[in-house]
Amino acid sequence: MKLHMQILIALGLGIKRNWHIFFGIIAGILVGIFLHGHSFPLVQTLLTFIGQVFIRLIQMVVIPLVVSAIVIGITSVGDNKQLGKFGSKMVLYYGIITVAAVAIGATLALIFKPGLGAASYIAANTASEVQASVATAMAQQQGNILNIFLGFIPSNPLSALANGNMVAIIVFVLLFAIALAKVGEVNRPIVSFFESVFAATMKITDWIMFLAAPGVFALTASAVSSFGIDIFMSISKYLGVLAIGFILQLFVVYPLFLKFFSKVNIWMLYSAVAEAMMVAFGTASSSATLPLTIACCEKRGISHKISSFVLPLGATLNMDGTALLQTVAVIFLTQAYGVELTPFLVIQIALLAIIASSTCAGIPGAGLITIALILDGMGLSPEQLVAGFAFLFTIERVTDMMRTLVNVTSDTVVVAAIADNENEINYDLLNNPQAYEEIA
Ligand code: ASP
Repeated sequence: MKLHMQILIALGLGIKRNWHIFFGIIAGILVGIFLHGHSFPLVQTLLTFIGQVFIRLIQMVVIPLVVSAIVIGITSVGDNKQLGKFGSKMVLYYGIITVAAVAIGATLALIFKPGLGAASYIAANTASEVQASVATAMAQQQGNILNIFLGFIPSNPLSALANGNMVAIIVFVLLFAIALAKVGEVNRPIVSFFESVFAATMKITDWIMFLAAPGVFALTASAVSSFGIDIFMSISKYLGVLAIGFILQLFVVYPLFLKFFSKVNIWMLYSAVAEAMMVAFGTASSSATLPLTIACCEKRGISHKISSFVLPLGATLNMDGTALLQTVAVIFLTQAYGVELTPFLVIQIALLAIIASSTCAGIPGAGLITIALILDGMGLSPEQLVAGFAFLFTIERVTDMMRTLVNVTSDTVVVAAIADNENEINYDLLNNPQAYEEIA
């Protein structure tokens, strides 16, 4: 079959199966455009409420799911050598994809120079809440990367759990699970316990997915209504560069990556994970989408053993869409302010974007806050920083939706490649979208 036919069929089936979520996104955009400039406080409140109900329900299952998935994943791999092999392959694959993202972001921003001439409308924006959030982010980061890494080690795992500090939780659970794998048979009661936790949380996820269409609709509508459509015109160059970058990741980098490292057909994979991609767009949260990402992968041919290990780590640590955005945003600001962009500075920005993106939590808005880590090293004045941030914040939600879709998609690309390499894919199922089981 010709490639473009394969693409159309896979995307068509992905949308057909999930037409209600897809419809939610489109209707949300239209309703949001209409609501902008009109004042319907009751409708706005209702939309925010529905969106929050959906996000909170799904966030509710994330921690039990991440903990149980990692414990089961690692203990089922068991033997040290295999675990090391998986682990290093995962880091390598996630690394390749993120390096590609920052390289694309930097190249596009240097070619199209979205920031030139932008200083005038950047300076017009001032926002006190932005000032406050920048100040907090700066105070937390204090330019000391070592402190940030220190924060990844939870001195009290229970408080990390209670505060939802994902990176710290993952560090503890990884060590705990590796230890469980090492102690052998005596781990059975705990592993069975987590198997039950995992099964029950996945069941709750199925139920929550009944709310996917109204949830995604409400979230999209309230995001779009807050800035309307005009904003797109005034910052079209910045958004255009981002959109091209994300499209290149989705339609060039991932297909090439899978061709090179596996036999997975990218279009079949996109069809299999279409629900997760749309919910990632709607919620702007990789963590909140995680239960669904796992469900899509496992119900459509990728083994539980690989998904349960690779996806939770990816949802927290692999943020290539965020890294791309951070690179473009920082170069944009340097151009707008006329800071000279030496090759050294570009490389510094790209490296910091890789670190800043992987330290950011998979929740809405996190990527913009960790940009402070990059900007801090660049010598912009506080006023310039604040004005620049105000600008980035005006369209934060929409760029967040796009980058989260990319973040989640790349998690599935990497999990598919590793599953292929380990013979852990049921290709008869993955390549037959007509046979896919419903998620909810
Ligand atoms: N919202 C993104 C995610 O959950 C993180 C970010 O803010 O860039 O993947």
